[in-house]
Order: sequence, then C-alpha cells, then structure tokens
Amino acid sequence: MTYVVSAPDIASVAVADSEARFPIHRIYCVGRNYAAHAREMGADDREPPFYFAKPADAIVPDGTAIPFPPATQNLHHEIELVVAIGRAGSDIPVDRAHEHVYGYGVGVDLTRRDLQLAAREKGRPWDMSKGFDNSAPCAAIHPADQVGHIDDAAIWIKVNGETKQDSNVSKLIWNVSETIAHLSALVHLQPGDLIYTGTPEGVGPLVAGDQVHGHIDGLGDLHFSLS
Ligand code: MN
Repeated sequence: MTYVVSAPDIASVAVADSEARFPIHRIYCVGRNYAAHAREMGADDREPPFYFAKPADAIVPDGTAIPFPPATQNLHHEIELVVAIGRAGSDIPVDRAHEHVYGYGVGVDLTRRDLQLAAREKGRPWDMSKGFDNSAPCAAIHPADQVGHIDDAAIWIKVNGETKQDSNVSKLIWNVSETIAHLSALVHLQPGDLIYTGTPEGVGPLVAGDQVHGHIDGLGDLHFSLS
C-alpha cells in the first residue's frame, strides 16, 4: 500500500509479562458509571450508560511524564478499570460478554473539566474535553485467562501520595458484562477496542509537577507525572 502522507503507527498498550503488545483500535469511555460520581456531577444515578471516545493514540504508557495539556485551567483525574476487547461481536448477551474480554488494565481518563462543563452547558460534544492528546494513561493489560474477571476489586488513586479516589469496581452501576452488552448493540466491537468503564467519586484537579499513582487490586499500578 502506498499512502500520500506518512501513515500513523498502530497505537498499542503493553501486556503484562509479555513482549507482545495489545493493538488499539478504538477507545470508548462510559460516562457516570458509579452512583456517587454521578451525584457529584449533578446527575441521577440509574440512567442507561452513555459513551464518548478518545483517539487510539491518546494512550499513554505507564511511567510517562505527560506534558501538562493546553487549553485548560482544570485538568481532572478519573481512575478507571479498562477492559480490553479480544473478540469481535454485536448484540453480545450479558452472560456471554466475558468471552469477548482479552484482559483488564488500570487507566486514567484525563479530563479538561472546564471545557467539559462549558460544553455540557451548551449541549456541545465532549471531544475536546475528553479526547485530547495524552488523555488516556493506561498500564499494562493483564490477560483475563491469567487474572480472571475483575468484578470485585479495590480501585484508588493517589496524587502526591494523598488518596483522592477510593472505591471498588463492584460499585459500577453498569458492570463490565452489562456495558459490553449495551455498547455492542451500538457498535460492532472489535479486537483492539478498549473500554474505560467510568470513575468513582473523588475526581479532582491535577497541576504540573503532580505525581499520580493509580491502582486496581489484581491489576497492579499505574504511575505518571505531569510536567
Ligand atoms: Mn471517565
């Protein structure tokens, strides 16, 4: 194949204990998927899930010093369980959703909260508040055939050693299987798709110089800083 401009590299994320990497097709994110976070954002806590997306190349590997993003005075952390899809499917039944999961990882949905709230107020899209460069830090994916399915695990994030979010993925309003079933009725899920499943309460600002440490039991840790 010959292209008229240079073709982009395939975005990818590390796989734990492997030289091989997980290639990223798309990054879908669930909005407001923990009741206490939905409430802190001013919403009801049992609405159907809704989604936004980030570009595949928004992914940032573990251990990165991320340049502080432009165009925001209010960058927020959102610690999230990330699901890596390993098998394609549409209209996936809830009880077969696990068959489509390759593995799980620890991610942060970085958010330009000031731009998001301004967009929300005007009914405008969230792309520029959610899908900007380097907005998707993600640690190595752990294959489900090694760690099992993550449905009851502590999830927390510390900024400069201070705990900011501290919850359990069992508190997801729409669990992983339900989310896969619902999302696969909207798009044909593909191997390489990542799903950021939503964040618990306690979101807050990050500034240049911050050291961020996220964790999910069974999946290890994610570290990054803002420079
Ligand atoms: Mn989020």
